[in-house]
Amino acid sequence: MRRFDSKTLLIATHNAGKLEEFHELLTPLGITVTSAKDHNLPEPEETGTTFIENARLKAHAAAQATGLPALADDSGLEVAALDGAPGVYTADWAETPQGRDFIMAMEKTHAKLIAANAPQPWHARFCCTLVLAWPDGHDEVFEGHANGTLVWPRRGQDGHGYDPMFQPAGETRTFAEMTHDEKNALSHRGAALNALMRGCFQ
Ligand code: IMP
Repeated sequence: MRRFDSKTLLIATHNAGKLEEFHELLTPLGITVTSAKDHNLPEPEETGTTFIENARLKAHAAAQATGLPALADDSGLEVAALDGAPGVYTADWAETPQGRDFIMAMEKTHAKLIAANAPQPWHARFCCTLVLAWPDGHDEVFEGHANGTLVWPRRGQDGHGYDPMFQPAGETRTFAEMTHDEKNALSHRGAALNALMRGCFQ
């Protein structure tokens, strides 16, 4: 596995919530984080049908454009009673002509569970695939998951995306009711990043 031996890591995301989490997870390790926005990178179209394809697409596009190693995250929510939907289309469920609306996306998810007459608890998992790509085309791939259930009504003000309706297994609070450190310790992104640290940063 290739080592990452720079002090600065480009995070190939335009998602402010994800970027903040990477910042919180990486800064204590002495790694400076720069973002796709800092480098004026366009947001590539996510044309893949799997998390890994989309993460690769974003990481390689950023590494090629900047000449820097770049880390991309593709993530989403898989709901068991919806046959794994929204999955790779998690962000798409929030699209509106005015931008992304996650309140609407959570309402849509809930409505589909009710329409499917899905018995509770509504098992779900967050998935995160990380791809660290170098400008020479090499990459390393890591995955993390967070298992839990979907709750309704949604609870909590913190977090981003679908956090207010996701309660991790063994917890009584949703991700949106936790501090950032508490969520990071349990999250799919934290798990994938730990695997990346073990693989490329030691
Ligand atoms: P993408 O990886 O850019 O395709 O977006 C994945 C989508 O999954 C995000 O826009 C969020 O809606 C959702 N998502 C991914 N990770 C999280 C999380 O930690 N909390 C809540 N929602 C998440």
